[in-house]
Order: sequence, then C-alpha cells, then structure tokens
Amino acid sequence: MIIIDGSEGEGGGQVVRNACALSLVTGQPFRITNARGKREKPGLMRQHVTAIEAACAIGGAACEGVAVGAAEFSFTPGKVVPGDYRFAVGTAGSTGLVLQTLLMPLLLADGPSRLVLEGGTHNMLAPPFEFVARAFVPVLRRMGAQIDLRLVRHGFYPRGGGRIEVDIQPGTLTPIECLDRGALRSVSATALFAGLPFNIVEREIATARRLLPDWPEDTFAVHQLPDEQGPGNVLLLEAEFEHATEIVSGFGRLGVSAESLAKTAAHRMAGFLASEAFAGPYLADQLLLPFALAGGGSFTTVKPSQHALTACDIIERFTGRRWAFEQQANGCHRARCG
Ligand code: ATP
Repeated sequence: MIIIDGSEGEGGGQVVRNACALSLVTGQPFRITNARGKREKPGLMRQHVTAIEAACAIGGAACEGVAVGAAEFSFTPGKVVPGDYRFAVGTAGSTGLVLQTLLMPLLLADGPSRLVLEGGTHNMLAPPFEFVARAFVPVLRRMGAQIDLRLVRHGFYPRGGGRIEVDIQPGTLTPIECLDRGALRSVSATALFAGLPFNIVEREIATARRLLPDWPEDTFAVHQLPDEQGPGNVLLLEAEFEHATEIVSGFGRLGVSAESLAKTAAHRMAGFLASEAFAGPYLADQLLLPFALAGGGSFTTVKPSQHALTACDIIERFTGRRWAFEQQANGCHRARCG
C-alpha cells in the first residue's frame, strides 16, 4: 500500500486524481492522508469524490472513507473494464478533471470505451474543453493514442449542465520528443458567453486586441451561446504552432472586470509567445503522466510549476520513473522522463 501525504507539495486535488489513475494502471493500492491539505478548505470536494467514484467504477476498485470533506481515504484497484460509461459531476465540477483521472487507464485497457461526462466544461482552475481537445489530446495522438472528443453542450459554474463525449481506442503509448514547437501558424481570440450582457465580451475583446497588437483584426471574435447554457463567460486565446497549441483562458466571474480578466490572459499568452517552450505551465503538468506511462520522452516548457513537481513525485512513487528538469540557454526547461 502506497501512503501519500496529500498536504505535501502542491497539496491539492491533482494528487488525488493522479493517484487514482496511476493506481488503476499499475495495480497498486494507495491511501491518502491530509487530502488537499494545502487548500483553504481541505478535504475532498464533490468533484474529487466524483473522480474517485468514477475511477472505482471503471477499475473495479474498492475505496474506503471517500466522502465530501474526507481528509483520508484508501483505494484498492481491480481490473480496468473498458466500455460505455456516463458520469455526472455535481455542482458543475469540471468534466475535464474527471477525464484527467480516467483517460490513461481506459487508453491502456484492452478494449474501446465511450465516456459521457456531464457537469462543467468551462470551469475556473481546470482545463476548458478546447484546451483538452486542441492542446492536450493532440500530443497524446502523436504518442499513438486514438481519442476523439466532442463538446455537446457548454456548462459553466455554478449551473453546470454541460456534456462532453469521448471515444477511446485502446493502445500503447510511444515515447516522443517534443522539444520544438515549430513555426506559429495561427492565432485566435474568442470570447464565449451565454446569458450575460454583450458589453462584457466587447470589453474583453477590446482589451485583448489592445494588448496583442500584432494579432490580425479578423482573429478576434465573440461567440454567443443560447441563454439557457449560461450564465457564463470565458475568453480563449489560442496560438497554434506546427507541433503544439497553447490555449490561455480567462474565466468571467463576479468581482473581476472584463478588462482585468482579458489583461491577465493576454499577458500570459504574450509570455508564452515570447518563450520558445513547447508546453505552457498547465499542459506541462498534464503531460507528465502520459509521458511517464509511455516509459520516457521529453518536452520543453516554461519554469516547472509546483503542480508539475508534485505530479512528478506521485508518478515516481507508483512507477519508479523519475522526471528531471534542466534549464536551457534560451530560458526554457527541458523535462525528461528517464
Ligand atoms: P484544488 O481545489 O485542490 O486546487 P483541483 O482539483 O481543482 O484542486 P488542482 O490540483 O489545482 O485541482 O489541478 C488543476 C488541474 O487543472 C491541473 O492539472 C492544471 O494544469 C489544470 N488547469 C487549471 N487551470 C487551467 C487552465 N486555465 N487551462 C488548462 N488547464 C488548467
């Protein structure tokens, strides 16, 4: 039994999701104490409970102590059974984060699966659907994975009601080198909104346009969704390179002005464009698990985040594979799994 102190490192929910995925893939049971110990409100939240329960359902696993607010629980994996599954994440929890938990075990299983995930598709502090579909999954495809995913309906916090569908063909992952992102092919800025005044997205786009002056006029757009999918708003800034795509998101919320949301997102995108990194900070922490399960490979990224370093520790506990980060002359870091 692997014992994990959930307050170490980043001390958040990603430790829980990565541990479930790794346990299903390696067959090793684990116990987490002090779950989400570094968060203001520690213990499991609804979305973590859903992710653990979903992992139990696909993996014939048995868990003890899993409940909202629980600080300690154990997880004993069984055999992953591919197939059709539907999971609803209550309170508009992120579908992207539940997918993070289930994708690797189902990909490495012995038959095809279809996942229907309902809840939030555009949540703060989680990968929005576009990020999963256009930044993360294409890297997995390069490793040999066959994954198709669709956004059926948008879901924003707190109302939720979104739906994504994911088809997964089983296979092995091949180690790859992602050192060079290639030339910039296109950029776009899209402000999505539902059930909110139009002037919010107008102000977001105006700010993004002012702060990204080199981006062509026709790359800025607003996209209005049916009112019943809202209220909700997200600004998505996308840069597609030959071998990589980065999507920076800014989520509309009460108390944050349209201008300040757009300014933060534009500065983050400008920072990424100024670097030569293959992966931005979020993509980097999400690639660590698939690369380790492929048995190696490397990619370049910006400075490794606490999330990334914590994920490396958990991966090493389950697989014995170690990640190393090495700063390069151009300021990027090369992450290498040996
Ligand atoms: P907690 O509430 O404990 O922080 P959590 O379960 O919400 O937990 P984290 O541990 O913070 O999650 O992990 C969030 C995950 O979502 C990370 O993998 C991170 O890369 C990803 N993520 C967060 N924001 C974005 C974003 N804007 N774009 C892409 N990915 C994101």
